[in-house]
Amino acid sequence: MTIARDLTAAEIVALGEARLVRTYKRPPMVLSHGRGVQVWDTDGREYLDFAAGIAVNALGHADSGIAAVLAEQAAKLMHTSNLYHTLPQIELAEKLTAHSFADRVFFTNSGTEANEAAIKFARKYARVAHNTHEKTQIVCFDHAFHGRTIGSLALTPKEAYQAPFRPLMPDVIVLPFNDQAALAQITERACAVFIEPIQGEGGIHEATPEFLRALRERCDQVGALLVFDEVQCGLGRTGDLWAHQASGVLPDMMTLAKPLAGGLPIGALLATERVAAALSYGDHGSTFAGSPLITAVANHVFDRLSAAELLAQVRRVGGYLKARLQAINSAHIKEVRGRGLMLGVEFTSDLAAQVVEQGYAHGLLLVGSGSDVLRVIPPLIVTERQCDQFVERLTAILANL
Ligand SMILES: *Cc1c(COP(=O)(O)O)cnc(C)c1O
Repeated sequence: MTIARDLTAAEIVALGEARLVRTYKRPPMVLSHGRGVQVWDTDGREYLDFAAGIAVNALGHADSGIAAVLAEQAAKLMHTSNLYHTLPQIELAEKLTAHSFADRVFFTNSGTEANEAAIKFARKYARVAHNTHEKTQIVCFDHAFHGRTIGSLALTPKEAYQAPFRPLMPDVIVLPFNDQAALAQITERACAVFIEPIQGEGGIHEATPEFLRALRERCDQVGALLVFDEVQCGLGRTGDLWAHQASGVLPDMMTLAKPLAGGLPIGALLATERVAAALSYGDHGSTFAGSPLITAVANHVFDRLSAAELLAQVRRVGGYLKARLQAINSAHIKEVRGRGLMLGVEFTSDLAAQVVEQGYAHGLLLVGSGSDVLRVIPPLIVTERQCDQFVERLTAILANL
């Protein structure tokens, strides 16, 4: 902190570029503070945050409720490790299971770790329930994103992400998304099938209810566990608490993360009793996961994200925003798709990076989804008025391309 006080934004950026590993290409401003859907940089410029820290800041920035719970718990007990029980963690598990198909929860620190846990649970379940060491294959889909660690990266079939790091976890097959005929390729060798009910990084593609139903049926035929990755699409983003709700299909496991603690790092793997019963003491662990600090905040966030009024607001404002995006008169837009406040604007060419880049000068924080889709994932507290401002600024960007 001492270095940055009287430096210009350009000097801070230069220091960052010199000292941070170059895995992220960042724009040349420095963010300083936020309030709700707005963020300001160190030069006082305001941005509407329609990226929300990649669908994390569901309640916006500097939320006073989160700040109060955080301060209160920080002054009480922050970390104990998982060697001990603490009330906030158990309360959160109680809430997550009461509101879902699941009976038990395993906490992690991120989305990729929740998926790693799901991989391990699926492997262990296959050994215990099917009494075989041969049932180890995992199925995922084209354009999926399940994370960047070696196991979940193997389920993220994007050449640029995988190629530098092979060999990855073996025994993975990739099937076309929403293609019912391809489900015949799922055999008794599979211990689990991973799918995002709405693909977030891969272009905002929704799995059809028919596809999810057929997938559930195929999983049951071959004894594979169905895992829904709702790290991005879950927890109110679609206007339902869970993205899979609309299909009526239930998984055996579900992974959560991004918005669950309002900006603090957390992940969760939810599982049925049948699956969780395959795990024994010592099978998996995490030093930091589910700490009283983070789960205290997550309890507060979950209560607010699961409230009927908030979900109704997401449906209403999301519908309004989608209609306004569809009404933009631009030759660059091919399609607007998605549900609730998980929308995608597909361009007629690879314009996403350019639109994101132009966003900074127009007071917008944006994020792409692949090269030709702009992801529209604002905080869930966004208002119609802020959506109007966003659409005005986006329209101006598109007109200048
Ligand atoms: C972001 C994301 C992940 C990975 O989460 P991290 O917290 O970045 O590890 C996994 N699955 C989906 C669907 C995601 O959007």
